[in-house]
This record gives sequence, C-alpha cells and structure tokens, in this order.
Amino acid sequence: MHELVINLHMHTTYSDGRSTHAEIARAAIKAGLDAVIVTDHNVWVGDFEGYYNEEGRQVLLMVGEEVHDQARQPQKNHLLVLGAQRELSHLAWDPQRLLDSVRQAQGLAFLAHPVDPAAPNFGEGDLSWVDWDITGFTGIELWNAMSEFKSLLKSKLHAIYYAFNPRRIARGPFQQTLEKWDQLLTDEQRVVAIGGSDAHAMSAHMGPLHRILFPYEFHFHAINTHILIPEPLIGEAKTDSRIILDALGRGHAFVGYDLPESTNGFLFTAQGFDKKALMGDVIDIREGVTLQIRLPRRTECRLIRNGQPVQKWENRETCMYITGEPGAYRVEVFIDYLGRRRGWIYSNPIYVRKKI
Ligand SMILES: [Zn+2]
Ligand SMILES: [Zn+2]
Repeated sequence: MHELVINLHMHTTYSDGRSTHAEIARAAIKAGLDAVIVTDHNVWVGDFEGYYNEEGRQVLLMVGEEVHDQARQPQKNHLLVLGAQRELSHLAWDPQRLLDSVRQAQGLAFLAHPVDPAAPNFGEGDLSWVDWDITGFTGIELWNAMSEFKSLLKSKLHAIYYAFNPRRIARGPFQQTLEKWDQLLTDEQRVVAIGGSDAHAMSAHMGPLHRILFPYEFHFHAINTHILIPEPLIGEAKTDSRIILDALGRGHAFVGYDLPESTNGFLFTAQGFDKKALMGDVIDIREGVTLQIRLPRRTECRLIRNGQPVQKWENRETCMYITGEPGAYRVEVFIDYLGRRRGWIYSNPIYVRKKI
C-alpha cells in the first residue's frame, strides 16, 4: 500500500479565494503534498488540472467544484463534487437531481461542512447541510477547518487571538458532525469521511490590524486527507486523478491533522477468515474478525462501533481487537498539542457484516 497526502476543498480567484491555481500548486509543493483538489463555488475550471513542477518536485492539482444554490436563503447545502469533469452548478436548486447527475458523471459527492455554526458578530451565517432526505452521496466532510474557526469567533477579541494563533484553533470535528456520521453508519449506510481546509486565504481588517488569514500553505500542513493506493502513481494526470478518486470513493482514507506531527503511517485493517480489509471496506464475520490499528507514534486511541466506544488504549503504538459483532468500526486518535488534547486521526470505518 502507498500512502498519499491530499489537501482538498479550497477556493481560487475564480470564486472567493485569494490565489491562482498556479500559486496554490506552488504552496502545495512547498508543503510536500501529493495532490490538492480545488473546489471553487459554482464554477468548474477544469483547464487547470495537471501536474505542476518546481525545483524537481511535483504536485497533482485536481479540479472539482463546490456547488450550492445561490438563490436559496440562507445559502445552505454546499456539495463538494469531485471527478464529474463537467459543470453541474445549474442543478444546485435540487440537491437530489444534482447528486444523481454526479453519479451519472462517475463523480464523487461529499456534503461540505455538514454542521457549520453561524458567527453572527461577523456577518457569517449558518451554512450547514439541511436536506437530509437525499440519497446517493459518497460521504461527508467530517472536519472543515473554516467551520471550526467560525465556531470560535465569540467576539472581536477571539477573532484577533485566533487570527494570530492559528495553531490553537483545531481540536477535532464537531461532536454533532460525528454523531450524524455515526447515525448514518448505524443505519448501515456507507459514508466516506474526508477532511477539508476550505482555504480562501482571505485578508482580514480589524481596525489597524491587517492580516492574511490562514495562507494556503498553513492549511496544507493542517487538516489533510490521507489515502491508501495499491500501486504508486504513474505521473500522468488523468490516470492518477482516477486512482485518487477511486481510493476516496472506497473510503481507503483517513483524516489526519498533520500540524502537531505528521499522521503518515497510520493504518486500520481487519483480518477475517480468508480476507483482509482496509478502512472503507466490508468484511464478513464468519469465525470472527481481528481489527488492527497501527499508530504513527505512541498516543491515545479508541475504537468506536456504531457510535459507541468499545475499547480505549493509552500510550500504544499498535492495538488489536477481536470481534464477532457486526457494525461499522472506526478509530479516533488523540494527541496533546499546545496545552490541549486534540483530535489527530479519524479513520474511515471498516464495515463488519454477518455473512448471510
Ligand atoms: Zn461551503
Ligand atoms: Zn468552500
């Protein structure tokens, strides 16, 4: 298995971001990412897709789209569309039709910032996902860096503090988002979790203070989506994009907060009677399943089944759990950083099923 680090969900000058595609690619190369996925609001600008090179290093820039209905007030229901390779924003008014079209176009659809609290002091509304009667989406954006920042904006003083101390922001996905995900998983839906930065690098003016909030490169060291692929990428943009989207669609991925320390090397697998499974996969029970967790360093980790913690380990690098119970098993890992216990890794589930 080969691990790739991807940062996704970001905006360029084609919508409300500050940088161009080329500038974003440069920042991604500097940060050492394998790929970035740009998702401008209601515009698909596929021409910029491809490998970008600088000083002997390269990054794959992929282009998706963040679609929402601009006529809707407030403008909720943002959908990240990846790999559809066509403009779909004209369907934003009907989320189910939009999802059906993404499917037809062999794309992936992730509900962006499904929980997104308002920041009324700053004129920022609640942009949560509300139309939950939809079907056919690939997954959810479990952890969105900008929603988390918004949730901390209780006053102007808070805004200034966090604008100057961005390393103190991230704590983990919202409890409400985790609960919603667990509820869907318990209902036996397969829902892939990804992490998004929602990078804009907007400039902020607060009295005499002027600051670029969260440059792209900052985001690229923070909430990333790590994917596992069977063979290394080949260096050709179209093929490699498909390989990445395939892994994302299967949930062969975890969300890693790489700022305190790189989450590279995390692994969550299952060994069944005659089959091995990776996070995102389904495995039959037969005579029991052994779940195995490998952590990048000794720390705290817990295993969750259908939303309920089943085992907790402290100060461990490898963990093992044998089960005969069906359910969606996922892993949460925590790390101490800047005086606080913070979410570090959120795996996709392994779906343990009873063989019928
Ligand atoms: Zn959005
Ligand atoms: Zn966005």
